[in-house]
Amino acid sequence: MGTVAGSIDEARPLTFVEHSLRSSGSQSRNEAFDVSCVRSKKCPLVANFSTMTPATAQATSASPELSQEATAALRTSLRGNVLTVDDGAAFQKAGEVWNKMYQDRAPRVIVQPLGNTDVVKALKFAEDHSLDVAVKGGGHSALGHGLIDGGLVIDMSLMRGVVVDPVTKTAVIQGGATLGDIDEEMGVYDLMFPLGHYRRTGMGLILGGGLGVAARKFGVASEHLTSVTLVTAEGEVVTCSRDVEEDLFWACHGAAPNFGVVTSVTVRLHDVGPYYGGLMLLPGAHYHEVARFLSQMTYAQTQDSMTGPLDGMPPVHVYWVSNKLQGLPTDDFIQTYDELFSGAPPELAPSMLILDLQGGEGFEKPAYGPLYLSKPTMASWYAIICWTDVSDREKGIAYAKKIKETLAPFSTAQEYANMCSAEGTQSAEMVGGEESLQRLRSVKQKWDPTNKFRSNHNISI
Ligand SMILES: Cc1cc2nc3c(=O)[nH]c(=O)nc-3n(C[C@H](O)[C@H](O)[C@H](O)COP(=O)(O)OP(=O)(O)OC[C@H]3O[C@@H](n4cnc5c(N)ncnc54)[C@H](O)[C@@H]3O)c2cc1C
Repeated sequence: MGTVAGSIDEARPLTFVEHSLRSSGSQSRNEAFDVSCVRSKKCPLVANFSTMTPATAQATSASPELSQEATAALRTSLRGNVLTVDDGAAFQKAGEVWNKMYQDRAPRVIVQPLGNTDVVKALKFAEDHSLDVAVKGGGHSALGHGLIDGGLVIDMSLMRGVVVDPVTKTAVIQGGATLGDIDEEMGVYDLMFPLGHYRRTGMGLILGGGLGVAARKFGVASEHLTSVTLVTAEGEVVTCSRDVEEDLFWACHGAAPNFGVVTSVTVRLHDVGPYYGGLMLLPGAHYHEVARFLSQMTYAQTQDSMTGPLDGMPPVHVYWVSNKLQGLPTDDFIQTYDELFSGAPPELAPSMLILDLQGGEGFEKPAYGPLYLSKPTMASWYAIICWTDVSDREKGIAYAKKIKETLAPFSTAQEYANMCSAEGTQSAEMVGGEESLQRLRSVKQKWDPTNKFRSNHNISI
């Protein structure tokens, strides 16, 4: 089996996906891609809060109460969209999140920016009107972090530009691009970097680490970042890299949503030849044999193979638990996992138990940044517990917690924040230890001392 690059569309009822990078050649869907600030540390073209344009000053000098005039003025000052509940279906669509457990949150304003300046103005507006802020990428957060009650949501869905440079083998990706957007554009040049499994997952995957196809060969997605451009709590546009604001760049490898609105990232890419592979969905009844077979095969194969069994249906209400395994998946572990899956209450039938077989070159050395993957890892398990009837919530959460407890003897304490429903702040277990947590706290103190960006796996100062 060769290296697998590509992601599937979760809406498609496929059992096996054949995907050729050579065949994908469509253009970016976002024409208005503003990369003017990508190379500068602090963009000179973008006003910070003390130098707003007159139109915005007018909009934000109104009383802190949110009047229609204020939102109208914001609308006039932006290139992108400003939506309120009065915009009906467009407002609802912009506020859709994957985990329906959090869909009842009702923001007051949703801004869909078209560039750095729009984001600066949106943050200024939120500050003037005492609105909490959330940032929504692909909307796939297990905890619905892209949506908040009563605040301002910055929905990045108009900023989906991806520009690949085949000469330098790099790509500039805007903050609202989905994995599908990125895949398509990289495929034009037979280039890739490892991403997750689903086409509609967004930037949060890269900013939180990013595990997925081809990771056994190339490591996690965030390892490929060469710069990150964000609008900070102060309304500055900052581009960080290994050479500029290195502390911030380090922190962006796993905890980026804590520090600002990421408007674009630059990543390095790998060559990829033709390959044949994809994702196989199999009935749960065969889980036991399949897990054992794949586990044996993966570790006997070259570094190029990336396999993982998956079973289940697209979820509705979700509670997610995960852990790294202490080593290779043993027979005992597979047996226990199988029993847990078979014993799921019928109301939780759409649930998925995933065994992600890692190891290989990509996981041999510690990942850069404050990621839970700071140590070499061979495999992780993820339990995505799903239900459709709201009244099954407690049952779902209790079952997820039981899985975590039962699998504790096979697991390390380390948790991947991107695949975790535990409320609360970033823990040492999520960020690879106490030392990383302390360093993260000092970066947070510097860039967001008032914790403006807190609808995420938050770093407590
Ligand atoms: C169906 C499904 C499949 C998945 N598959 C994988 C997988 O294969 N591998 C893997 O590693 N993970 C996977 N995940 C987990 C996924 O990586 C996380 O849920 C991730 O946070 C989703 O990012 P998002 O942009 O889609 O979600 P969102 O809910 O929009 O955002 C998640 C977090 O990132 C922040 N964020 C998003 N965009 C920006 C931005 N531009 N600037 C600042 N902050 C931003 C949000 O504020 C929020 O805190 C999957 C999740 C789902 C639901």
